[in-house]
Amino acid sequence: MNPSNYKILVTGGTGYIGSHTSVKLLQEGFSIVLIDNLSNSSINVLNRIKELTNINFDFIEGDIRDKRLLRRIFKEHKFDAVIHFAGLKAVKESEEKPLNYFENNISGSIVLLNEMDRANVNCLVFSSSATVYGEPSETKCSEDSQLCPKNIYGQTKLIIEEILTSLKKIQPKWKIVNLRYFNPIGAHPSGLIGEDPNGEPNNLMPYISQVAIGKRDKLFIFGDDYNTTDGSGKRDYIHIQDLADGHIATLKKLLQGSPLKININLGTGKSYSVFEVINAFEKASSKTIPFEIISRREGDVGEIYADITYANDNLDWSPKFDINDMCKDAWRWQSKNPNGYNE
Ligand code: NAD
Ligand code: UDP
Repeated sequence: MNPSNYKILVTGGTGYIGSHTSVKLLQEGFSIVLIDNLSNSSINVLNRIKELTNINFDFIEGDIRDKRLLRRIFKEHKFDAVIHFAGLKAVKESEEKPLNYFENNISGSIVLLNEMDRANVNCLVFSSSATVYGEPSETKCSEDSQLCPKNIYGQTKLIIEEILTSLKKIQPKWKIVNLRYFNPIGAHPSGLIGEDPNGEPNNLMPYISQVAIGKRDKLFIFGDDYNTTDGSGKRDYIHIQDLADGHIATLKKLLQGSPLKININLGTGKSYSVFEVINAFEKASSKTIPFEIISRREGDVGEIYADITYANDNLDWSPKFDINDMCKDAWRWQSKNPNGYNE
C-alpha cells in the first residue's frame, strides 16, 4: 500500500497518544488532519510535531461534539479513515463528573460516527482501554476475557465498543478496530514530545518523573499487600512508540481490507510491579525516588497484563521496547521539559 494515497482524520491529535501517532503517520507518508479542543493538551505540540517531521498538516481547534464543524471538515477533506483518540480519561474525575464523561466520550463518538457515515467514511480505529476488563478472573487478559469495568471512564469505553460492534455487525461496510491499550508510558526518543498531565498526575510514570525532577517530594505507593511477587500492583507497560506503531499497523490492515477481529489488545504481554518500575527509572535517571507506602487505591487490581497473541499474529506488529527504554525516554522528555509544553 502507498500511504501517500490516504488521508486520515486524527481526533485528539495533540494529546499524548495522538501526537506520537501523528508523527508516525506523517513519517509513513499519510496525509493527516488533526482536530482537538485542547482541553487536555497544548497548542505547542504542533510545532514539536513539525520540528520532528518537517511535514505540514492541518490542525483544527474544535470539539468533536460540534456537529456543524465536523460536517464542514468532512466536506473540505476526503478522508479514508479516522483514528479517534479524543476523549476524557481521568478515572477519578469520571466518578465525580459522570455526565461529562458520558457526554464527551459517548455523545462525542456518536456525533463523529454520524458525520463519518454522512461523508461515506467507514474506517475507524478507536482508542479503547484495558479498563474494560475491570477485575479479571485471570491476570492475563485475552480479548475474550470477561468485561466488567469498575469505573465510569471504563464504562464509557465499553459502551462505545458495544456501539461500534453493533454497527459493524449490522452494516458490514464499517471497518472498525477497538484497540485496548494497557499502560502506555515513555516518550518520543527525541525528548520533543511526551506526556504532560494537567495538575497532579494520576498515573505512575508521570508521578515518578515529577518526583525525579523535584516537583513532588515522594511517590505514594498504593499498597504493598497484593498477591504479587513483591506485594505492589503489576501492570503491562507499553512504550508509547510501540503503541503508536500498533495504530499504523492496524490502520494499514483496515485500509487494505484485511479482516480483523474488532477488539485487539495492545500491550507487551509482560507485567512489572511498582517497585520494578521505580528501580528501572532510578537506573535510567540516576535519581533516587523517595516513596511512602500507603493503602490501596480504590478500584485497583493487583495484576493485569495483556495476551497479545492476536496482535502479534495478525497486525505485522510486535512491541520492541522494554521497561528500561520506557524509563529512559520518559526521563529524557521530563528532564528536557521540566514544565512540559509550557516553555
Ligand atoms: P490525552 O488527554 O493526552 O489526549 C486526548 C485528547 O483529546 C486531548 O488532547 C484532549 O484535548 C482531546 N479532547 C478531549 N475531548 C475532546 C473533544 N470533545 N473534542 C476534541 N478534542 C477532545 O489522552 P491520551 O493518553 O492521549 O489518550 C488518548 C485516548 O486513548 C483517550 O481516548 C483515552 O481514553 C485512551 N486511552 C488512554 C490510555 C492512557 O493511559 N493514556 C489508556 C487507555 C486508553
Ligand atoms: N500507582 C502508585 N502510585 C501512584 C500511581 C499509581 O502506586 O501515584 C500504582 C497503581 O496502584 C498501579 C500502578 O501504579 O498498581 C499503575 O497505576 P496507573 O494509575 O499508572 O495505571 P492503572 O492503574 O490505571 O493501570
